[in-house]
Amino acid sequence: MGLLDRIFARRKKRGSPVPAQVFFTNTLSGKKELFIPQKPGLVLMYTCGPTVYQQQHIGNLRPPLISDLVARVLRHAGYEVKRVLNITDVGHLVGDGDEGEDKIAVSARKEKKTPKEIAEHYTQLYLDDLENIGIDIDDIRFPRATDYIREQIALAKTLEEKGLAYRLPDGLYFDTSRFLGYGKLGNLSQAELIEGARVAKVEGKRNPADFALWRRAKKGDLQMWDSPWGLGNPGWHIECSAMSRALLGPEIDIHMGGEDLASIHHNDEIAQSESASGRPFVRYWLHNAFLNLEGEKISKSLGNVVYLSDVTARGYHPLALRYFYLQAHYRTPLTFSWGALAGAGAALARLWALSREVKEESRGVAESSEPLEEFRAALRDDLATPQALGVLWESLKSDEFTPEEKWGLLTEADKTLGLMLVESPETKEPEAPLPVRALLVRREAARAAGDYAAADQLREEIEKSGYRVEDGPEGTVLTRKPF
Ligand code: AMP
Ligand code: ZN
Repeated sequence: MGLLDRIFARRKKRGSPVPAQVFFTNTLSGKKELFIPQKPGLVLMYTCGPTVYQQQHIGNLRPPLISDLVARVLRHAGYEVKRVLNITDVGHLVGDGDEGEDKIAVSARKEKKTPKEIAEHYTQLYLDDLENIGIDIDDIRFPRATDYIREQIALAKTLEEKGLAYRLPDGLYFDTSRFLGYGKLGNLSQAELIEGARVAKVEGKRNPADFALWRRAKKGDLQMWDSPWGLGNPGWHIECSAMSRALLGPEIDIHMGGEDLASIHHNDEIAQSESASGRPFVRYWLHNAFLNLEGEKISKSLGNVVYLSDVTARGYHPLALRYFYLQAHYRTPLTFSWGALAGAGAALARLWALSREVKEESRGVAESSEPLEEFRAALRDDLATPQALGVLWESLKSDEFTPEEKWGLLTEADKTLGLMLVESPETKEPEAPLPVRALLVRREAARAAGDYAAADQLREEIEKSGYRVEDGPEGTVLTRKPF
């Protein structure tokens, strides 16, 4: 009997239902693997969250959205899921190596606020965004790094006592040469590790990839705590190791984050956690690809940023962004454009309309069907959302299936995709942006004054902005041109 069979047999004996099989691509092996948690039926899951020194852009919403999808799919497959997503409110420097100022301190100075005010303000905006894109925030723990300083110090102390860390004038450093297999996530070469570690920045480091566990306070720091290594603040990587351990235990099932975090941040987390506990830290590492904008990655430093508030200001439902993300596989880079978002918004509105029809026709009776099985299998196969959406659309449009079968599929999709497919909001054409509405007001005025040449020219301008002017019995309305 294999391990899995033994686990299932034990669970059967206890009478608890056996969860269905789910597969994920594990960055650790680079392969798609059958998911087997440490404790049968229970999933411990940690997602690397944002540094809250600015409003989060829509790219930052991809990791929590994907982690929400993972949790929904696992729960639907029969698992209990415990989730943690950290809020970094100290220790993340402007440079991703161990140099530069603390990002929170920079914003606090700029906005003339305390670091706590900065962090709380941007955390609140982030949590509002998560709720708006269909994430149940009451289901997740959001630990703040500043609430876990004691745990971070304790972990760094353990590493020092084990002889795996050394002191430099500016702090305590982890000696990566003492951790066998450093860089195993993504199978990094020595050259890649050196490149990532920005060698020359800290004098006295024993190895280029060594990183700070604790930094002594320096000029400009606004937050600091007492420690065995002097007054200072924690290194960026240690918060995730310490909080994951404090809230979920030394060994967890899934750790997630954007793909940019794998090479340094996550390899450093592995090195610290495994050295301290002597146990494997994470069984499955899942990384989402980036969201790009016109060929570049969206980033605060490049200044090409789109926020969820921009999406709603243009009249889109926030779930249009969720739908946009689900159209692509989580490991595929995505390019954002307003046209693509409009397409996603229109598709979702169509889905909601179809769902209302099916609900009425089926009188809310749900039945199983072949597409339902296909839909389920797609999501359990490394979250193949494009395929799952494909099955959903094909079946809804087909005459082959009864309304009850279609309703069965919709109710299932509602639970796993989180798109409000069962209680869909009434949709109306989103309001045109203010400049377009202003053009319409001018056109009305021109028409009232009998200046039809000017009115026609204004109509052309409105059409160039992607809207159509329709003069009807109820007055003039703007509708969006199809893309
Ligand atoms: P940061 O606040 O920069 O630490 O980022 C928070 C999370 O968002 C991390 O998991 C990053 O990997 C992720 N992230 C940042 N920018 C993007 C992007 N353009 N697309 C997808 N994920 C991103
Ligand atoms: Zn992290």
